[in-house]
Amino acid sequence: MTAMNRLSEKLSTAVCLFTRVDKKNADHEKLTRYIVALNRETLPDKIIKHGAACLKEILNHRLFAFAMRNGNRIDVWGDPKISEKSFKNMILKDFNKSETPSLNLQCHSFHPDQPGCRFNLNNLVSHETGKKESLSKLYMVPDRRRYGYHDNIADIVLQSCSLAVSRQMTIKHLSKTARIDPLTGCYNRREFANQLESQIAGAVRHHSKLAVFMFDLDHFKKVNDRYGHLAGDQVLREISLLVRQNMRQGDVFARYGGEEFIAILPDTDKRKAIELADRLRRKIQAMSISHENRAIKVTASFGVASLDPRNSHGNKIIQDADKMLYKAKLKGRNMVMPGLMKLVRPGRGATWDQELAMGVM
Ligand code: GH3
Ligand code: MG
Ligand code: MG
Repeated sequence: MTAMNRLSEKLSTAVCLFTRVDKKNADHEKLTRYIVALNRETLPDKIIKHGAACLKEILNHRLFAFAMRNGNRIDVWGDPKISEKSFKNMILKDFNKSETPSLNLQCHSFHPDQPGCRFNLNNLVSHETGKKESLSKLYMVPDRRRYGYHDNIADIVLQSCSLAVSRQMTIKHLSKTARIDPLTGCYNRREFANQLESQIAGAVRHHSKLAVFMFDLDHFKKVNDRYGHLAGDQVLREISLLVRQNMRQGDVFARYGGEEFIAILPDTDKRKAIELADRLRRKIQAMSISHENRAIKVTASFGVASLDPRNSHGNKIIQDADKMLYKAKLKGRNMVMPGLMKLVRPGRGATWDQELAMGVM
């Protein structure tokens, strides 16, 4: 080999090295941009979409699935073909099948511009991070061209996605537990107060009607005494479910405390609210709750109130409903106050609303 040839070879190696260094730097810049972008997202599928775009742009790998262990559940976001049995089995094996965790598969088109991913289990490349309880994995359809630092990039994408998704899941869980009553699954009192404020503001702004009903289970202490506290809990759960199933989508239903519940009915006048409350009262009365082969029956007393546009403070409508509930208890329980009976015959010249406002009920 001549001296000239040797020089030319050295030069081309140097150029090649420089090009590689350049490519590596450019890839790391791209990676940083993607990591920043995915950390700005609040929805897991959007976070993973950034991860997929990053893998595609830098490594030319196609993301097939991102799987993450969450307690006894494995969440998988992936190509529509993830639902194939062979892939499910592989996931269960990778995430320790012996514990039979539940699989939550969500299909996404991470690469909509290139539909129809060719799926072959044997060709998938996977990366993993975390241990048992917090294991996360990436499954990719790889490109043949590879640089030494590519594994490192895939690991960083995986770790970033995993951290961002679990952070968002924690935030979602915390915000849910702050708003939801754990026993019944309906809103708690704090969330009710927030919703009441915004619903009243909306009703005042749009000059629309709004009603509230409150109900309290009758002699509930006796239910606990007779059947036990667990039976009492079951009654609360089933009553809450029954009521929710019989309300409209926009209605807000909450556990106000103990065995007392409350609902906001937007766009509803007092008469309609009384009718709904009485329908629910009858359904509760007719319901039989089975606990350890014993049938439990309960009744409830209701108080109804509607928004007074001249005094729209949240406390006012609650106090009005509370007064009516107290009246229903005094009058013998298992009834709605104001009652339907009085509504049937309005006084001379009086309209329904006047009659209600005058407190004839
Ligand atoms: P009234 O008809 O006057 O409302 O009588 P009551 O017995 O329902 O009213 P009281 O206020 O004397 O008792 C309420 C009972 O509700 C007592 C309490 O143990 C029970 N309770 C409150 N919260 C829960 C709960 O989460 N689970 C169970 N099982 N019972 C509860
Ligand atoms: Mg009670
Ligand atoms: Mg009570």
